[in-house]
Amino acid sequence: MVEILLASQNQKKCRELKMMLENEHLQIISLKDLNDSDDVIEDGSSFFENALIKAKYFAKKHHKITIADDSGLEVYALNNQPGIYSARYSGQGDDANNQKLLKAMENEKDRRARFVSSVVIYLPNDQYHHFQGIIEGEILYELKGHEGFGYDPLFYIKKYDQTFAELDIHIKNQISHRAKALMQLKEALYEIIDYK
Ligand code: IMP
Repeated sequence: MVEILLASQNQKKCRELKMMLENEHLQIISLKDLNDSDDVIEDGSSFFENALIKAKYFAKKHHKITIADDSGLEVYALNNQPGIYSARYSGQGDDANNQKLLKAMENEKDRRARFVSSVVIYLPNDQYHHFQGIIEGEILYELKGHEGFGYDPLFYIKKYDQTFAELDIHIKNQISHRAKALMQLKEALYEIIDYK
């Protein structure tokens, strides 16, 4: 059994990552399981840099194989904002972030947006690997659905005629930006861990 640490304090994100990664060979633990409430300053200039900062910091701290995801929403009409600032967009949490986004998009006809996820796996021997996933969607004019987290109630997927917050979690976990990055990681995982 190989133990892998998830470097995130976001419990909902950890839940998604655990559901996607766990199998009979992998035990996935989170910072919460280690009673670690530490946070690291994400001062990188890209999703990749921030994922690397988080994965490296907690891998070194706990001497464990560590996975970190840095993700966010890029809105075409807003020059790809909020981007790496997605979590901190309003400075007041998910609900206020969604309200700020609705206001910014009030008179905007181009509703296209995408979620981006960068996943880094950092090994105790200081090697790391990076994977990226993207899903395209549209920003609605009002919130719809109660599942998920973050901008899920505003992010509409045409193919399913639902927002991320309406979609069954199992479907979200097959099609999301994070799922796409993690699928690539999973394919490479045995080689990566053996390599260590
Ligand atoms: P991170 O925890 O620093 O990666 O910040 C990611 C932020 O991007 C979250 O707080 C959300 O605001 C947004 N985000 C990333 N992935 C998702 C998702 O799957 N659904 C909704 N919002 C997301």
